[in-house]
Amino acid sequence: MQFINDLNLKKQAKELGVSVWQTPSFLFIVMGFVIIIAMTATYYVSSFYNDPAVLVVAESLVVIILFIIGNSVIRGVEQIAKLNRMKTEFVAIASHQLRTPLSAIRWETELLTSKFNEGLNEKQLKSIESINILGNRMTRLVNDLLDVARIDQGQLFLKKEKIDLAQLTQEMIDNFSSLASSRNIHISFKHPEHLPSIVGDSGKIRLIIENLLSNAIKYSVDHGNIEITLKRVDGFLVFGIKDNGIGIPKNQQDQIFKKFFRSNNVLKYQTEGTGLGLYIAKSIVEQSGGKIWFESRENTGTVFSFSLPVK
Ligand code: ADP
Repeated sequence: MQFINDLNLKKQAKELGVSVWQTPSFLFIVMGFVIIIAMTATYYVSSFYNDPAVLVVAESLVVIILFIIGNSVIRGVEQIAKLNRMKTEFVAIASHQLRTPLSAIRWETELLTSKFNEGLNEKQLKSIESINILGNRMTRLVNDLLDVARIDQGQLFLKKEKIDLAQLTQEMIDNFSSLASSRNIHISFKHPEHLPSIVGDSGKIRLIIENLLSNAIKYSVDHGNIEITLKRVDGFLVFGIKDNGIGIPKNQQDQIFKKFFRSNNVLKYQTEGTGLGLYIAKSIVEQSGGKIWFESRENTGTVFSFSLPVK
């Protein structure tokens, strides 16, 4: 019974969007039972007859039955794969189509606040600013969804550009400095004077640093401390970001790079978040020839690190 519970057929069916009897685990269990029953029956029936023809007919029947069941297993798996592909394609198309109107909204609101703001009172300007902020947030979400769809389709293509990682990190810190200081969070950055450049997709690496830095701020307590380091280790540059925030519960640490995963301790601090950032970061780092990892203790803090090869 415990074995059946471990298989958790209901959960698998829910995750795959099919009914329990269509899940691969269920179909394999059925197949296993049928093989055992069929073999026993064949052996039992043929032991009554000395005629080899009986054995041949019995075995042929068993093979036909196994073939039919095997076929339905394959069909079940094919259907799951097809549904999955359709879902990924839908997400890719929908997020791609959403980007254009979203850019237009942001462009128009920026124009309103910067150029045509005369005659607008403070309340109206604030409303437009809110639309702009929400537009930016929605653009980030749509871009994340598009990246996830590309990763799932195996079509996330990375550019090869020469990157000064220390400079790029400093730029990201500057971008986040007002958000950090609004929460009295101090950010420090240490790195050796001369570091070799790396080759990679600067936009995507910027995205990784942005995600790690925004997580460190989001999941820090006020008056927190964030330490960023960059160093060379053998043939790699290793980026580290340490915070003294809420940490990740031990029993959920193995799920942290999974798509849409958010640990339950963050939900009460930060309702905003998708659980996509680390999934995307891991795919980009690994596709660039590096690794990403972390160490964390709940209520003490977290260190996220990633390495990228020096070329
Ligand atoms: P999001 O932050 O949008 O939820 P991410 O993929 O960036 O998505 O992170 C996934 C989850 O990992 C977060 O919801 C949180 O539970 C956990 N996490 C990531 N970074 C930190 C951190 N610095 N401190 C504590 N928890 C973190």
